Amino acid sequence: MRTIHHHIDGTSVAGTSGRTGPVFDPATGEEQAAVDLASPSEVDAAVAAARAAFPAWRATPLGARTEVMFRFRHLLDERRDDVAALLTSEHGKVHDDALGEVARGLENVEFACGAAQVLKGEFSEQASTGVDVYSIRQPLGVMAGITPFNFPAMVPMWMFATAVVAGNTFVLKPSERDPSASVLLAEMLAEAGLPPGVLNVVHGDREAVERLIAHPDVAALSFVGSTPVARHVYESATARGKRVQALGGAKNHMVVLPDADVGAAADAAVSAAYGSAGERCMAVSVAVAVGDVGDDLVAAIGDRLGKIVVGPGDDPHSDMGPLITREHRDRVAGYLDTATGEGATVVVDGRDHAAPSDGFFLGPCLVDDVTADMAVYEDEIFGPVLSVVRAATYAEAVELVNANPYGNGVAIFTRDGGAARRFQFDVQVGMVGINVPIPVPVAYHSFGGWKASLFGDLHMYGPDGLRFATRTKVVTSRWPDPATSKVDLGFPRTR
Ligand code: NAD
Repeated sequence: MRTIHHHIDGTSVAGTSGRTGPVFDPATGEEQAAVDLASPSEVDAAVAAARAAFPAWRATPLGARTEVMFRFRHLLDERRDDVAALLTSEHGKVHDDALGEVARGLENVEFACGAAQVLKGEFSEQASTGVDVYSIRQPLGVMAGITPFNFPAMVPMWMFATAVVAGNTFVLKPSERDPSASVLLAEMLAEAGLPPGVLNVVHGDREAVERLIAHPDVAALSFVGSTPVARHVYESATARGKRVQALGGAKNHMVVLPDADVGAAADAAVSAAYGSAGERCMAVSVAVAVGDVGDDLVAAIGDRLGKIVVGPGDDPHSDMGPLITREHRDRVAGYLDTATGEGATVVVDGRDHAAPSDGFFLGPCLVDDVTADMAVYEDEIFGPVLSVVRAATYAEAVELVNANPYGNGVAIFTRDGGAARRFQFDVQVGMVGINVPIPVPVAYHSFGGWKASLFGDLHMYGPDGLRFATRTKVVTSRWPDPATSKVDLGFPRTR
């Protein structure tokens, strides 16, 4: 069987730990490859390569670093289909959805191509007599990224595009469930002219992550994954003095007000809840039907679910592919029994959907009459399950959203601009959609939730990504001028 190796110092490096993990084809259920799982010493080798590459990369002119990103952007654009096919084969998402992931990742690379605009510093002339003060942004050194299974190409690009263009070197630890896209991206970056050691990919599981957290030469960590691991990475790495941004899980609500266009809201709910089989951190998993809109909304969503084609991601007729593993598929399906037991109404049971093969398929599921104390509401299910909660008023809906421990994304559907604006003001969530169900910010803004969806201060990619990847140095400068020179033991004053 094929083994997926590390990419260290510009070359493919076979694992030496003796440990590998399975990589499945979720559409068939077959194990298609094994991936090396790094030992701490293999992580050390990747960090050593990144450390050795740092001084020269940092000294490389910004224009030359940017040029590599331009070339990478060009290669990625040409090879969108190849990257998407790889995503489909290991993650399972349908090809068109995979192309969307590549396109959004590409936008992050495009932002990195224009990094100079954000990286330029600030200058204050004549802050005191003959004194100028300026602040400059410098890279941190070796940065590490730990990424989840659900966006095997885009999330790595969220991290390394800004980190590398800013002059850092990088060690990426992708999800061990679908690791090949990271290797392909690293190879394409090498083809684009990125020097060896600037971007390294080390595969692994918890053991590798723990080593990255503990390694004294890793200056900063970007993490995206589930909340318990995000919290752990944040707490343990910041305790060691590292800079950390750790994005966690989500429970995203879509509030539908009584004046909303029910058809448009149902289209949006179905797209956002079942796209990528619900395995998106910005997937809508709760529709909050306000006032009397609930029955019409549930009926409209139910109508649309009958038309969704569930099948292998490489079949152009499929709308929704399989889940990532059999274990995960069974865990998600288990929520339908739990929901029934807790008094909710299963309107559409995805288990009734005929699976096209022995892959990890589950049809779309719709659960009505859900309340905030049920497991189907409380847990991040991360699958094709949409819960509908009925709320009597707008205030009740906002209270529900704000009481939720997560705060990643939220959407409101209404034709009332005043209500939408009030919602934007009231809601305690980091990314808000107004008649937009998946409000992932464009690459020149930054991505980040609130509360248990993000540990850290700076959001990912965009301007915050560059701020995270650099630290500011402030220089106060005076050129010798005999005319103003004198001895003065007082504290420096500006006037
Ligand atoms: P996960 O937390 O299981 O894994 C994420 C990464 O952490 C992987 O690289 C994995 O190898 C590593 N890891 C797993 N367990 C670990 C442990 N105990 N100690 C150290 N490292 C560990 O997440 P996942 O299942 O790959 O991805 C799905 C999760 O990611 C969902 O919760 C989803 O909401 C979240 N997610 C969040 C965002 C966001 O932007 N907030 C984006 C995508 C995914």
